[in-house]
Amino acid sequence: MPEGPEIRRAADRVHRQIAGRRLDDAWFAFPELAGQAASLIGREVDAVDSWGKALLTRFNDGRVLYSHNQLYGVWKLHDAEREPDTGRSLRVRLVAEGRAASLYSASDVSLWDAERLDEHPFLSRLGPDVLTHGVTVEQAMTRLLEPRFRRRGLGGLLLDQGLFAGIGNYLRSEILFFAGLHHRVKPQALEEERLARLAQCILSVTRQAYDEAGVTNREEWASADRARGASRRRWRFAVFEREGLACHACGAAIERTSVSSRRIYFCPSCQPEPSR
Ligand SMILES: [Zn+2]
Repeated sequence: MPEGPEIRRAADRVHRQIAGRRLDDAWFAFPELAGQAASLIGREVDAVDSWGKALLTRFNDGRVLYSHNQLYGVWKLHDAEREPDTGRSLRVRLVAEGRAASLYSASDVSLWDAERLDEHPFLSRLGPDVLTHGVTVEQAMTRLLEPRFRRRGLGGLLLDQGLFAGIGNYLRSEILFFAGLHHRVKPQALEEERLARLAQCILSVTRQAYDEAGVTNREEWASADRARGASRRRWRFAVFEREGLACHACGAAIERTSVSSRRIYFCPSCQPEPSR
């Protein structure tokens, strides 16, 4: 399943295709949107970004196209004159100065006024997106200490999209490893310095995954793994999917368990279990 960094990279591709350009055409398969298509022609696409797993296409008249790919949706970028060769069903097509972005198979698409976007039933439940909303270390620390979050174990909490949108399963394991924290630790138990380190890791690990197409491992560890012939799946992560292998930092065997019904990987030595 793609996590925030992968969705944002998909948004970037659509952004590079049509942002800063004027729409020549807009087409929607959904009857409730089809009637608005004509009113978008001549508008400019300001930006395409993401919030958690939703992709947001922002127009210069203050409207925003919300789309969620769920499991099957996919954007294809192409020349307006050249139809993509696909058996998928077309749901949205935006054409800007001859450059087209076509969304196939997605069913969750709607058009919003930007000021009312936070009323969207899905978005209204999400916390800020680390990649889109410019979250600072101080803001992340404050959020972790909010009463609704502070008493929860970090393993379950980090997957809660109400805390920060976009953190999924591989990011959770990687963030906790780099923060040196066991998944049962609760924010309220952390001294300020450790809480700051956790907040910093939430931002930096997510940012690295975005910048490096899903790689969260430290470069020196990744290159040592590559030199030994490890597959990308192995060298891209510090702990995720490395059960039984030696921890890069201390040599202990990485362990795997399940938290919130999803697998989590950790180093029992670098991420000691809290005493009760
Ligand atoms: Zn270790």
